[in-house]
Amino acid sequence: MLTLTIDLERWRSHQDRIAQETPGLVPVAKGNGYGFGLPRLAAEAQRLGVPVMAVGTAAEVAQVRPHFSGSVVVLQPWSPQFDYEIDEETIVTVARVSDLAELPDGTRTLVEVMTSMKRFGISRDEFGQVSQHLGHLRFEGWTIHLPMDSGLAEGENLARLARSAVEAPVWFSHLDRHVYDNLAAEFDVRLRSGTELWLGEPAALQVEAQVLDVHPVKRGEKIGYWQRPVPNKGHVLMLSGGTANGIGMAAPTAAHGMGQRARALAGGGLEAVGAALSPYSIAGTKRWFCEPPHMQASMVFLPAKVDPPEIGSWVPVAVRNTTATFDQVIEA
Ligand SMILES: *Cc1c(COP(=O)(O)O)cnc(C)c1O
Repeated sequence: MLTLTIDLERWRSHQDRIAQETPGLVPVAKGNGYGFGLPRLAAEAQRLGVPVMAVGTAAEVAQVRPHFSGSVVVLQPWSPQFDYEIDEETIVTVARVSDLAELPDGTRTLVEVMTSMKRFGISRDEFGQVSQHLGHLRFEGWTIHLPMDSGLAEGENLARLARSAVEAPVWFSHLDRHVYDNLAAEFDVRLRSGTELWLGEPAALQVEAQVLDVHPVKRGEKIGYWQRPVPNKGHVLMLSGGTANGIGMAAPTAAHGMGQRARALAGGGLEAVGAALSPYSIAGTKRWFCEPPHMQASMVFLPAKVDPPEIGSWVPVAVRNTTATFDQVIEA
């Protein structure tokens, strides 16, 4: 089992601090729910007492609804080609002026502004046209999705330009905190946050895999689907977690260049034969995959000088929570 253990008290006090520091916080829950799952994040948003949360796609709305009683923003822009059911508690994002006319009467609508991301949004020379198309809608505000560490001016400039076209709240993603604080003193702002809110306190989160089996191997013994010889004597560890869990292969990093490869080969390291470093740590060191991860288990080589872990014990794994699928999430 690949397990995520949450130190609930620590995780929640981090969330509470962010919420306190961020008036207008809009928690974002999308995709794999940052590893926690959408229902759990929706319940946390409910606990935070915020009036609005955001999801990525329309299909995700149904997953948060049972756990969150406020309004839900769909971040991916609406279009007649990508129509979905819209109700009183749904806020739709629109990124083309022509789509505004197509929305059903009374739709709660955010208009997305194009930024240097070049992702979605109307360009600044179209801001003036927006007001003519809002008559049948409930305009909730402008929305501005900035790149990471955008220049200080971009978000502020766009917000001012948009507000001079139609005065309305401005919703941001990835805005510098000082700029946000300054703008918050001036007008109604919202800040969408996912990564910082849910993953900003890594010490509250622990990912571990279970040792499923341990096999002693001799130098040169062939193992695995690909019958590759192990470079040295040691142990093959069968560890829980594989491709289905988002366990990926890091590109070989340790052994660049001939000199390093030669040294690694002399040392009997798997890196010398082009293997990849695994995200599993044993005795404080990341170990090498014997071969690419399998669907739900991985084969990892442990050199003879390290005592193998006990079957059933847990070892730390470094995964990206946004691409991981955990077999279980437990609270500690
Ligand atoms: C995903 C997303 C966010 C949240 O991003 P994080 O980096 O996880 O905080 C904010 N705004 C938009 C439009 C998004 O799609």
